[in-house]
Amino acid sequence: MFTIAIIGRPNVGKSTLFNRLVGKRLALVDDRPGVTRDRREGEARLGDLVFKIIDTAGLEEGAAASLSGRMRAQTERAIESADAVFFLFDARLGLTPDDRFFANLVRRADKPLILIANKAEGRIGEAGAREGYDLGLGDPVPLSAEHGDGMSDLYSAIREAL
Ligand code: GDP
Ligand code: MG
Repeated sequence: MFTIAIIGRPNVGKSTLFNRLVGKRLALVDDRPGVTRDRREGEARLGDLVFKIIDTAGLEEGAAASLSGRMRAQTERAIESADAVFFLFDARLGLTPDDRFFANLVRRADKPLILIANKAEGRIGEAGAREGYDLGLGDPVPLSAEHGDGMSDLYSAIREAL
């Protein structure tokens, strides 16, 4: 089974996508007290694909320091243990400096990457999604993790990347 890490700055919709792909099969979540909740793992299903997925939760504490060393380390660890990466940005907001920061972490890792323009539902989302080309990380896949739009394009992108 291959592993995909979901990477991106806080609030781009990583956990929403994780939940959509994993559904109720949260078998690998560690609920022991004291165990860090920074990282959630689950078994994702998309069409006939079954894979392990890692959600990087980021800053539950100290949300002010949005690019703290903790988040950076967590992101790097997740990328390291994955075979491929979903890199999310918010198509409604377009690219932010934080997106570029995380994009550089991903770029350095040199793993197969699927660039996802999340929250791409509606016309605002479509325009914002095109901003993703600017990262030089390939064609953005417009997605709405919340509404479930674009999942078949995501499926195709995974097939192409792996
Ligand atoms: P994370 O911090 O990257 O894990 O982001 P979350 O999954 O917690 O989502 C952050 C916010 O974006 C929440 O309010 C979600 O409901 C919202 N969100 C997630 N996906 C979408 C989407 O596809 N469209 C819209 N409009 N909102 C979304
Ligand atoms: Mg989250």
